Amino acid sequence: MKPDVGKRRIEAPRVDFLSYKVKCPFDGTLVGPRFVTREHLDVPPDPPYAATVRCPADKELFEVVFSA
Ligand SMILES: [Zn+2]
Repeated sequence: MKPDVGKRRIEAPRVDFLSYKVKCPFDGTLVGPRFVTREHLDVPPDPPYAATVRCPADKELFEVVFSA
């Protein structure tokens, strides 16, 4: 089954992401900083407002946009 591309960008509080409370939108695996493939260091402000994550279970890539 083809992944829903609309799920490739999710929003979550940064604090939740840092404490592994954010779920992969495809299979619900909890993800956090260990699974970041790239941070958006090129865009202010600091710290980064989003991160690209690869789910360790299904290997799907998605972007976590920090809402706070
Ligand atoms: Zn997943």
